[in-house]
Amino acid sequence: MDLEYGQRYNDFRAQVRAFVEKHKASRPITSYDPKLREKVVKWLSLQIDAGYWARTIPKEYGGFGAEPDLLETVIMDEEFNRAGVTRGMMAQGPSMLVPTLLEHGTEEQKRQWIGPTMRGKVMWCQGYSEPGAGSDLASLQTAAHQDGDDFIINGQKIWTSSADKSDMMFALVRTEPDAAKHSGISYIILPMNTPGIEVQPLQTMSGDLGENSFNQVFFTDVRVPRTNVVGQRGNGWAIANTTLKHERNSLNANAEGTLFRLMKLMREETMNGVSAMASPVFRDRLMRLQARALSMKHHGMRMLTCSLKKESPGIAGLIVKVQNCQLNFDMSALAIDVMGELGVLYDHTKYERDRGYWQIHSIFSLGLIIGGGTAQIQKNIIAERGLGLPREPKPATT
Ligand SMILES: Cc1cc2nc3c(=O)[nH]c(=O)nc-3n(C[C@H](O)[C@H](O)[C@H](O)COP(=O)(O)OP(=O)(O)OC[C@H]3O[C@@H](n4cnc5c(N)ncnc54)[C@H](O)[C@@H]3O)c2cc1C
Repeated sequence: MDLEYGQRYNDFRAQVRAFVEKHKASRPITSYDPKLREKVVKWLSLQIDAGYWARTIPKEYGGFGAEPDLLETVIMDEEFNRAGVTRGMMAQGPSMLVPTLLEHGTEEQKRQWIGPTMRGKVMWCQGYSEPGAGSDLASLQTAAHQDGDDFIINGQKIWTSSADKSDMMFALVRTEPDAAKHSGISYIILPMNTPGIEVQPLQTMSGDLGENSFNQVFFTDVRVPRTNVVGQRGNGWAIANTTLKHERNSLNANAEGTLFRLMKLMREETMNGVSAMASPVFRDRLMRLQARALSMKHHGMRMLTCSLKKESPGIAGLIVKVQNCQLNFDMSALAIDVMGELGVLYDHTKYERDRGYWQIHSIFSLGLIIGGGTAQIQKNIIAERGLGLPREPKPATT
């Protein structure tokens, strides 16, 4: 077996490494903060033009237009992770909307939205959950009635991450009130400044640290053109599942990067003058996490291979979210323990490490065990769709 990458890929790695080293200082800290928008656009555009972001998106939709190549993707991820830099942008537009548009959008929608979204010029939020529709998402009630060439939307969304800082929303609305529960839903995109939209921020235990804010969004007679529906009207459930699949897979992205960051922290932190890395207890926990992170990295390569071959990953795809979210939380739990009493600081102070990254990551990764479908729901999906076990009993309706 030849485990060498070969000259072509070694050259590619050297190019990526040089790029990251040269430009990493100019990267913005967050992506949703409107004050940093210009910086975000510049940073992402630089990456697209070099071919390290939106690499396989066709040029006519604003991407770099390269052929998919598994090893190139692995190398880019490895090099960005090594330098502790996020490749591209972790946000709902690039990770959820863009793959959905590539699969289901009209030519016009692709040309209008994909490029600006990948460059960070347009930020998106996801309007799925409602007060009565979370795990049972198909119970959603936000209604869209047709009026000429438009839909008029009324209803409410909740837990809408970053709605207060987004330009656009992709949402699920009920367009066919008389159809069966899963059939009358449409997937629609809309500007957040449309009259009739009110965004109310919700306070959470993570306070205002981190960039992800929670909101509820109210719709009162919000007029949206019919052409903003993605895919077939009434077929939104299938489209939503495409988005959710990409959301869950995107959670695979950075376990190795987080692991490197954890190792760096463990080398730097000391207890009684001894490095945390020298503690057998911490090292044992680290080794277990490393094994899990590396297995998820290789699992990611397996998924990528399936997608390049246009094969379904089957049950392999279903385990990504439940495994990775727990792994991310467990890594941050070790970091918090390693920092000792400094680990419980949750306000920016002179004692905080890594700009408070671990405290934010800990609370955020706990949230991700719920967001995008809870761990319990993921396990139901693995059992029913992956292993073919009997469906869970539904409560009796009288
Ligand atoms: C960090 C974060 C970000 C989010 N961002 C967004 C966003 O941007 N847009 C958006 O639309 N939504 C978002 N959400 C909402 C998220 O999708 C919902 O919270 C999630 O789907 C669960 O729904 P729920 O909160 O209504 O809980 P419920 O559905 O009421 O569930 C409550 C509890 O019951 C359990 N449960 C429910 N049904 C079953 C079952 N059949 N079997 C076993 N257990 C079950 C659940 O696992 C959970 O523990 C976000 C949530 C979080 C935490």
